[in-house]
Amino acid sequence: MTPSAEQWAAAVAAVRSAGPDDEILLICHVNPDGDALGSMLGVALGLRRLGHTRLRATFPGEFTVPGPYADLPGLDLLVPEPDAWRDPRLVLIFDVASESRLGALADRLGAPRSVVLDHHASNTGFGGVRLVDPHAAATSVVAEQLLERLGVPLDAEIAECFYVALATDTGSFKFDMTTVAVHELAARLIATGIRPGEISRRIFDSRPFGAMKLTGEVLGRAVLDPAAAGGRGMVWTYATLDDLERHGQPPYVLDTLIDPVRSVAEADVSIVVKQTAEGEWSVSLRSKGAVDVSGVAVAQGGGGHRLAAGFTGYGEAGDVVATVRRLLDEHLN
Ligand code: 5GP
Ligand code: MN
Repeated sequence: MTPSAEQWAAAVAAVRSAGPDDEILLICHVNPDGDALGSMLGVALGLRRLGHTRLRATFPGEFTVPGPYADLPGLDLLVPEPDAWRDPRLVLIFDVASESRLGALADRLGAPRSVVLDHHASNTGFGGVRLVDPHAAATSVVAEQLLERLGVPLDAEIAECFYVALATDTGSFKFDMTTVAVHELAARLIATGIRPGEISRRIFDSRPFGAMKLTGEVLGRAVLDPAAAGGRGMVWTYATLDDLERHGQPPYVLDTLIDPVRSVAEADVSIVVKQTAEGEWSVSLRSKGAVDVSGVAVAQGGGGHRLAAGFTGYGEAGDVVATVRRLLDEHLN
């Protein structure tokens, strides 16, 4: 499961096989979050320190960087999908559980060398060299180890990227994955001089007034279903494109909406169904432990972790929830 010595050696060899003027493309998943962007940009900056001059970082789909990440170091290396190198010498992929999350950029897996850095247990097994560690709290844990093996010392810019990634995926160092090693990594990152308080305020505790009003409305329509998930309870809500439009907000403001929903004590499982197009929904699933929600997500063509997963659903929001409700009983732990 954890990358072997051979896989680490192959990853280092793949990176070293690229000369300073070879094109290197870094890709993270569609609708990137803090771990996707942070692990990718941290490694991009590390490769720049090694003298690589032709570096581009990208992600598929609409080119919107969520507000909380708009100040990340290394953003000058980020380009929209159409500007991604067509035939890069080396491709590095970050936080991508399945090829579908690469959209049309999946064809870059045909590059002479590819290295996949990820931590999803549901990772489908694509790519050349695979650094996939389901025990890692974030992809940035794997990314930091790669830079260390490449002999790149941490500096404050790289550290800020990795810290944002680590803080995002551990829910501010609250989740079960928050091990001694996670805190030791955080300590190494903070030792470079970054300011955790400032970073946390920016990425977790700052949002437009309209986003707050939208959140209030969407939380106000949440439904509690105590009988679902074998009686462990389920709470769900939904948000439409019309909701976003009325409050003048971009879709990414809904990315963290699952957090207040999953705090409901009477429900083990929480669901947020976010409209992405007519009859199409991005579904976020969380469990407190009774259900393996990644199993539910995979059954619907998505993926994720045991207690946090997602998929794309179709039809009416209520139908999507009814399908999840039915699948939950099959995935009780
Ligand atoms: P979130 O609910 O925060 O969007 O995602 C929770 C977890 O599920 C993340 O680890 C994310 O990578 C995974 N995930 C969310 N949506 C999808 C999807 O459509 N496909 C796959 N493979 N994974 C997803
Ligand atoms: Mn991640």
